[in-house]
Amino acid sequence: MTAVVIQTAFLGDVVLTTPLLAALAERHGPVDVVTTPAAAPLLETHPAVRRVIAYDKRGGDRGWRGLRRLGRRLAAEGYERAYLPHRSLRTAALAWLARIPARIGFTDGWPFLYTHTRRRPPDGHEVDRLLALADRPPAAYPPTLRLTPEDRAAAAAVLEGVGDPLVALAPGSIWGSKRWPYFTQLAGRLSMAGANVVAVGGADDVGWGDAIVRAVGPSGRRAVNACGALTLRQSAAVIARAALLVTNDSAPLHLATAVGTPVIALFGPTVPEFGFGPIRDGDVTLGVVDRLPCRPCSPHGPPSCPLGHHRCMRDIGADVVAAAIEESGALRRRN
Ligand code: SF4
Repeated sequence: MTAVVIQTAFLGDVVLTTPLLAALAERHGPVDVVTTPAAAPLLETHPAVRRVIAYDKRGGDRGWRGLRRLGRRLAAEGYERAYLPHRSLRTAALAWLARIPARIGFTDGWPFLYTHTRRRPPDGHEVDRLLALADRPPAAYPPTLRLTPEDRAAAAAVLEGVGDPLVALAPGSIWGSKRWPYFTQLAGRLSMAGANVVAVGGADDVGWGDAIVRAVGPSGRRAVNACGALTLRQSAAVIARAALLVTNDSAPLHLATAVGTPVIALFGPTVPEFGFGPIRDGDVTLGVVDRLPCRPCSPHGPPSCPLGHHRCMRDIGADVVAAAIEESGALRRRN
């Protein structure tokens, strides 16, 4: 039985798809996965994955022509089953163009292009909603990544000379309104309390990382800006070295889950009830204490606060996050 999974959503969604991949690999053997070029390296080493096929839907493969070309390529593979966790028309059309005989998707996707449908649970964590595609019960498999010795060596090189306790800070998000504005203040507090700090993120987050390093400077502790300097798996290896990750509602949250690092997640315009919050016992979710009638204001978080005040994030003070870190005991556990 050869099966392919088509998952071209955001990076975090791809990490949250790894339990589904594990469930399917148990049933069919390692599966092939079609995903974005950005997410491909996350899955290339995963034990549930036989092969990753990159689909550059916004670049070289964009448009109807690119979709048909990839459809022909998938058709030549002779897959017997396609699992379609992403509910987009493009995903459904790709499996149909590839003439895969069994196409399994959710009822709220494009059921007339599928051969089998599954009901997507309206509630619960996204991991469990995706597992429903394989008829597996909630919490049957955790998100996982496999890091290579080279990934860990790259992380060790970036963190050379940085001792414990180490706190990773992920200040970025594609959506501006999801960015908590006080990471630099928190970094200063952490360093005064004796912690070292590493900033993780992409090339767009380099400025944030530099500000975090500057905030730690006067304390005499060590701070490293790894934003934009590492691959995704290498960044996951850095997070794996840390005692704790403080993050917005963004992909690093899920990377930390997959490598077993405790998380403090800061939610502003979105809420964990959407299904993308921390999943493990002991992880912490923080949001504004006072009820904000505007919150949540969109499924992903708008580029900026439509009301201008951004209280959903600004009202979470650095002192609140520092207290949550202290209360979690994470720094003492890995000290
Ligand atoms: S409208 Fe409300 S929930 Fe949305 S970004 Fe602004 S403060 Fe946050």
